Amino acid sequence: MSTSINLAVIPGDGIGQEVVAQGLKVLTAVLPQDVKLETKQYDLGAQRWHRTGETLPDAELEALKHHDAILLGAIGDPSVPSGVLERGLLLKLRFAFDHFINLRPSKLFPNTATPLAGRPDIDFVVVREGTEGPYTGNGGSLRTGTPAEVATEVSVNTAYGVERVVRDAYERANSRPRKKLTLVHKNNVLVYAGHMWKNIFDKVGQEYPEVTTDYLHVDAATIFFVTQPERFDVIVTDNLFGDILTDLAAAVTGGIGLAASGNINPTGAFPSMFEPVHGSAPDIAGTGKADPTATILSVALLLRHLGYEEQAVRIEEAVSADLAERDGTFRSTDAIGDALAARVAG
Ligand code: ATP
Ligand code: MG
Repeated sequence: MSTSINLAVIPGDGIGQEVVAQGLKVLTAVLPQDVKLETKQYDLGAQRWHRTGETLPDAELEALKHHDAILLGAIGDPSVPSGVLERGLLLKLRFAFDHFINLRPSKLFPNTATPLAGRPDIDFVVVREGTEGPYTGNGGSLRTGTPAEVATEVSVNTAYGVERVVRDAYERANSRPRKKLTLVHKNNVLVYAGHMWKNIFDKVGQEYPEVTTDYLHVDAATIFFVTQPERFDVIVTDNLFGDILTDLAAAVTGGIGLAASGNINPTGAFPSMFEPVHGSAPDIAGTGKADPTATILSVALLLRHLGYEEQAVRIEEAVSADLAERDGTFRSTDAIGDALAARVAG
């Protein structure tokens, strides 16, 4: 654990700016006096692209490398063609900094609305592979625009890439009380990648005799997310399956306003990046309606990654206590940030 944190902040677009301000407020409040927090803001996202045509210039990518971690609000705006910012900024960062772990915890907090009957006890974490699968840009289009067009989008799976994410997931499962790890894939149809994942999952599992393992096809996993979410502890899965499953997980645990995530490089070779799962929500930007809790919980993940476990827990407990006392009246973005900052400082 360092005695200073040199944080890069990318507020981004829409509500990104608003929620990041609250995240920083809580971060400042929770840190011990003797930890020096330095922040540098980066102007990246839709506005920058409109002004200059740039998404992530090399100089800024290089500068970002020298921070301890990155806090990101949200990137994206309907005025920018689909894919430009996703590939040119978000995925570029993920690949450049080798963020092979995409960590997405799901917990059903008190008083939050879940569409599930009987308020099951949901507390699991999805470890989504972050640098391979169908996200590598390996594909193309032939005879584009003709009736005979062919498009391919090749899923890339390397033994190296699968083993490191599977190992990370076993480590996480082993450190949690229930010690249960579920592999989600589709190895009855995606036989090449699916069997490699399963073989590596079984092989690495021999090193973790205390971890109970399970395997589910992704379609069955979506059913159990709704009918029996309490059966999950840690889930490890492919990049695309993880993306879809975690949106479903957010929906059954009270919505996108609470879902946090980390794009992590556990080796520490590059800074990891923490962000809410939600997007820039242009429909509510500037209205004070955005819930900053997902960003504040992402700050907790950031602190845990940097070794500030006690402060991370304090934020998570503050969110839980705050929601338990919530009486259902509307609270603004600022008011939620103020309440949580006051609780963690106490
Ligand atoms: P992206 O493509 O960037 O993931 P998206 O189109 O999936 O974005 P979001 O920006 O996440 O969508 O918004 C989806 C819906 O959820 C919108 O109606 C938005 O207002 C709402 N929403 C998103 N984040 C929040 C938040 N923090 N608080 C309240 N509502 C939110
Ligand atoms: Mg989305």
